[in-house]
Amino acid sequence: MAAPKPNTLAAFQAAKGFMPVDEGLALHDAATDAAALGLPLLEVGTYCGRSTLLIADAAREAAVTAITVDHHRGSEEQQPGWEYHDPEVVDPEVGLMDTLPTFRRTLHKAGLEDHVIAIVGRSPQVARAWGGPLGLVFIDGGHTDEHAGGDYEGWAPHLAEGGLLVIHDVFPDPADGGRAPYRIYRRALASGAFTETSVTGSLRTLRRTGAGI
Ligand code: SAH
Ligand code: MG
Repeated sequence: MAAPKPNTLAAFQAAKGFMPVDEGLALHDAATDAAALGLPLLEVGTYCGRSTLLIADAAREAAVTAITVDHHRGSEEQQPGWEYHDPEVVDPEVGLMDTLPTFRRTLHKAGLEDHVIAIVGRSPQVARAWGGPLGLVFIDGGHTDEHAGGDYEGWAPHLAEGGLLVIHDVFPDPADGGRAPYRIYRRALASGAFTETSVTGSLRTLRRTGAGI
């Protein structure tokens, strides 16, 4: 599978975010595979655009569009006082997290702005307003059952047959992290509509091979 462009990879490594390089390369492979369907590639959980860059690189190559959804106010564990908080991404005027400006800089520096549509909103609400089929659904949003479950229920039905569902932070062992992403991964497999195609760290790739999500 084609590698990301060297300047995309350099921008990825310089970007704030939560994805190691091996998982990023697996995400890029999945996005490249899915882009062959000629449909948009969707991400839930933009944050500062680290993973978005790799999806956008694959989208540019195949002349499709990457779509990334986030309310940009951060997940539970990113709020002030929590483990993954970064004070650099707080809007001093409103006193809340705002990762949108950093995301836009990330995308601009990588020269990928023309290949991405950023949607600012809550994932289930955006999913309800969404109309068309998708080639890729990458779930990397909130880690509670409510949020991960809402991402799966909202977006998986929009995935075209042959398209790829990629889930980040899948930890079968509770000692490694929260298990909401693992539970939606199990749900996807139990639905009978997906076949697993790859495992890289906590990143799981499943192909939609049937109906009945
Ligand atoms: N993909 C990013 C990391 C995403 S972190 C990277 O590679 O670095 C998770 C993001 O999900 C946060 O930015 C948070 O604001 C967003 N998020 C959490 N719950 C959400 C929801 N219900 N709707 C939209 N965005 C959500
Ligand atoms: Mg993640």
